[in-house]
Amino acid sequence: MENRTSLFQQKPYLLKYRFFPFSEYLKEHFSCKVHKIPLHAGFTCPNRDGRVAVGGCTYCINESFSPNVKGRSLPIKEQIEKGKAFHKRRCGAEKFIAYFQSFTNTYADVEILRSCYEEALHDTDVVGISIGTRPDCITDDILSLINGYAKKYHVWIEYGLQSIHDKTLDRINRGHNSRIFFDAIQSTKKTCINICVHVILGLPGETREDMMETAEAVASLGVQGIKLHHLYVAKNTALAEEYFQGKVRTLDMNSYIQIAADFLERIPSDVTVQRLVGDTHGNFLISPIWKASKAEITCGITRELERRGTYQGSRFHESAVATNYSSSFPVQNMQGHVAEVSKLHTIDL
Ligand code: SF4
Repeated sequence: MENRTSLFQQKPYLLKYRFFPFSEYLKEHFSCKVHKIPLHAGFTCPNRDGRVAVGGCTYCINESFSPNVKGRSLPIKEQIEKGKAFHKRRCGAEKFIAYFQSFTNTYADVEILRSCYEEALHDTDVVGISIGTRPDCITDDILSLINGYAKKYHVWIEYGLQSIHDKTLDRINRGHNSRIFFDAIQSTKKTCINICVHVILGLPGETREDMMETAEAVASLGVQGIKLHHLYVAKNTALAEEYFQGKVRTLDMNSYIQIAADFLERIPSDVTVQRLVGDTHGNFLISPIWKASKAEITCGITRELERRGTYQGSRFHESAVATNYSSSFPVQNMQGHVAEVSKLHTIDL
């Protein structure tokens, strides 16, 4: 108990939320309110254009989670200006992180990437950049470009992993395996770039044990951030077809809250949580329909951890950090195949 008391004194956010919200992380790093601005730079994805596969991940329809996809004709400068005005008005944000969110934001020639990233960084209110991508779309040249920004800016790469299990990655047509993910993490860890890993809970065929294995693998990586999403079925996706054929089920809200709490218990408490619930926009959602806001679900996870008397990292042991984590997941090496190219505490993660 004494240990836990001193932990809560050192990390008061753990007592309040039972996890490490990104908003608290930003407060630790900046003296003013900072907010991310989602951007669509006009990139596509090798898992959709045929380079890796066509059709994309079975659950993917970018319009359902990136409403700004419709605004692709807007120059990045204008997207930044609109985002600044919105977040200044909404929450009093003063500085911003340019978040290249839609599709695969390292899937272009280095000079094209440089031009896009620097158009965003040119704005004097932009203090950081966060780049969402696939682990098979990163090269040393791209890492070097992004790492160059770390001298002056707060820099993140967000890698979509979703699951550590290759059988699941195959089933959802990710087009890469866990070996490629581990290689990307190892390369990125040689730089000053912060790493955030995206995971989906409730993927087809996965048991709770499978998801906890993903948690333990992610916990062992020494990354700085995670995003958790629940699997949802959106219209016009391959997953929707599977759903209507009865081959796929989604989690009910209480099950998701339990599993997300289980997951967080296994993640080190210094890994910031940038998202705890998937987000859909517009009229795309088929299932699950939970009738609860993101804030209420996030609050439910906090309450569940409180009920258990646990918190993020309470089941994490330093000894679990594997330097050779890849050996736990022997998979075929495919590196390079794309390398060429709350009402309890309302919280805004
Ligand atoms: S990698 Fe991302 S953008 Fe590409 S198909 Fe999968 S979810 Fe969609």
